[in-house]
Amino acid sequence: MITSFCLFLMILLAGGAGSCNAASQEAGPSLFLDAKELARLQSEIRRLDWKRAAYEGEDADSDHAFAGTGVRSGADLWMKRKIEIPARSGHYHHFFCECGSRLTFPTDGREHPEGYPCSACGKVYAGEKYDGAVRWQIHNQLAVAALNMGIVSAVEGKREYARKAGEILLKYAAAYPGPHTTQTQGGMMYQSLCEAVWSIELAGAYDFARSAGVLSKRETELIENRLLRPIGEGLMSLNVRGNWHSWHLSAVGVIGYAIGDSRLVDYALAEFRRQISEELGDDGLWPESVHTYHFYPLGAFLYLAEAAYHHGVDLYHLEPKPGKSLKAMFTAPLGYMYPDTRLPAINDGWYNSFLPANHYELAWARIGDPAIGWGLKEACGRQKTARNSFWALLQGRPLPRTAAAPGVKSVNFPVLGIAALRSRDGAMMTLDYGPFMGHGQFDKMGVTLFALGKLWSADYGTPGYGSPIMPWYTGTPGHNTVVVDGKNQARTQERRLTIFAAGETFEAAQAETEEAYPGVLQRRSVIRVGERFVLVDHLQSAEEHTYDWFLRSEGALTLEKLPEAEDAPALEYAHVTDAKAYGAASSWAGQWRQGRLALDVCAFSSAPATLYSARCPAETANRTVPLAMARARAKTLDIVTVLAPRSGGAQAACSFENGVLTIRDGEAVDYVAIGSTKAGAELAADAAFALVRTSDGKTPTLAGVIEGAKVTWKGRSLIASGSRQTALEVEAR
Ligand SMILES: [Zn+2]
Ligand SMILES: [Zn+2]
Repeated sequence: MITSFCLFLMILLAGGAGSCNAASQEAGPSLFLDAKELARLQSEIRRLDWKRAAYEGEDADSDHAFAGTGVRSGADLWMKRKIEIPARSGHYHHFFCECGSRLTFPTDGREHPEGYPCSACGKVYAGEKYDGAVRWQIHNQLAVAALNMGIVSAVEGKREYARKAGEILLKYAAAYPGPHTTQTQGGMMYQSLCEAVWSIELAGAYDFARSAGVLSKRETELIENRLLRPIGEGLMSLNVRGNWHSWHLSAVGVIGYAIGDSRLVDYALAEFRRQISEELGDDGLWPESVHTYHFYPLGAFLYLAEAAYHHGVDLYHLEPKPGKSLKAMFTAPLGYMYPDTRLPAINDGWYNSFLPANHYELAWARIGDPAIGWGLKEACGRQKTARNSFWALLQGRPLPRTAAAPGVKSVNFPVLGIAALRSRDGAMMTLDYGPFMGHGQFDKMGVTLFALGKLWSADYGTPGYGSPIMPWYTGTPGHNTVVVDGKNQARTQERRLTIFAAGETFEAAQAETEEAYPGVLQRRSVIRVGERFVLVDHLQSAEEHTYDWFLRSEGALTLEKLPEAEDAPALEYAHVTDAKAYGAASSWAGQWRQGRLALDVCAFSSAPATLYSARCPAETANRTVPLAMARARAKTLDIVTVLAPRSGGAQAACSFENGVLTIRDGEAVDYVAIGSTKAGAELAADAAFALVRTSDGKTPTLAGVIEGAKVTWKGRSLIASGSRQTALEVEAR
């Protein structure tokens, strides 16, 4: 096997100095790959184009450890370089421009005291703060390079790669300044979190280098006792929680397996069990915010799970409490993501975050659940990404031939405090009603909207935490919610979801808060009527307040038939630009357009509101999106807003009278009762919300009720339930 593979590679690599030494592989590696899997991988690289591409890939300068980076090209890049270990790293999040964009990392693996330009606006930043961030990158590149070299040495039997990986490890053992004593003191990396990420790759490299037989006994002792064990013991001594701890414990465990230290392994396994049991939310999501901070700890756990798996311990099927497991961490996000696999960037974290194919590759290989297979297939297909990630290369299995969607439905995540309403045709709205948790933002009652294959109204997450623009992204005006008196919300503890009623055509979520702005009750309902959404806002206080209702969306914004106001006060929100004010109105309409697609909006306010159009930052300040803002001064304010995604056709005509919203789309008309309406009214309902759908404005075809029992249309009873229903809809014929 190895002989024929070497022959093949020598032809393939056109004269590469291949020297195969089967004897050197003895027992083989045992962390992220074992001898049997290595033989399979060698065969796959020979037979399968995608495995070969993942192995050889050219995109070696990618900043991120493995995504899109070929193992061999990455290893080769560093094989040619002189190995010099830089001083202790600085902080990555400092490497950001005031515009929110990242500065440009040098490609030569060196510090550049003359400075680093912003990747978007070109502004140059120089000094130790930025050099330190560059050293952070170089340390990570060295660790990834060592691991890549280890893999190449195993796959091709080329000991020179293992020797170079050993050189990196030995130089680190000589340079290591001593372990972390606090989260930012000690260690080679500024943050203990980054030390954990970096050391997992070094432990992986060590496993390959040692199994290649290129290290002497003294060298293995130096690497184990002067580098890996001190790192592990330092991380073990830090008493933290959350995603930092996930990385700490995983690094401790991976190092423990790499150097055969059962004390480190036992600690890691116990802490893993405790985190899954006590820290993972009952809804299967990581409760620090979501998207980035769900998959970030999961990424750490996967390294530990693989190392454990190869030592006979199965963490993949461990369920320390019912429903709490690695499997749940993979299935829960399938109900959270948008239909294109983008992850709603609610709370802190990068805007451009998608279901991570890398993680799902491993889960598909080890857990093999059909929903996980579907998730992997969606991630690869929708993101049009090649299967070139680290775990795809090492453990990627054939994609499932057929994979049915695991029942896409509306979901409430009660720990995180986010409800997601979904239509059959792929429209989705999120409502964030949760408390301010780790990495939270002042975004209570914020909504996002996905429809027609696009994310229209987004939460843009955050740029790097060191960027001076961060307060915009964490602040209330940066979200699609209501700002009171121009201020940010207070930190809240509550999760007051008062309605969650999932249905086929008609469904709703409702939440309220009195903590966001003390003295103000804020209630927001999100109702889905087919492919349209209705927002119902109620603000109530004993005092008069200025209520600013915000909605931003991708697309070109047009507001209809309102005269521009000369005397309206200017908007004083930082980062909001190009503001135009319009005359006060109790109803207004408009749309955001993207080509032939439109997001129509019409709104009805209980008090006249001054309407503004403006622009505000998207994922960075270098890109802005149009914003609509309605400002009203009142003690109590009610606003009903229809958001209607449309592909061609004409805008639906909306009206709102006596608590009934009418949405007229050609012949078809939907009547939506907001709250109970009087007996004897055309649409009479005793409910939180009721729907009568007609094909011609007169003949009902469908009736729905949410938190109610009765719906009557023009005197005819359409729903008459003996008891109050959370959600009920019936065809009316
Ligand atoms: Zn910039
Ligand atoms: Zn946000």
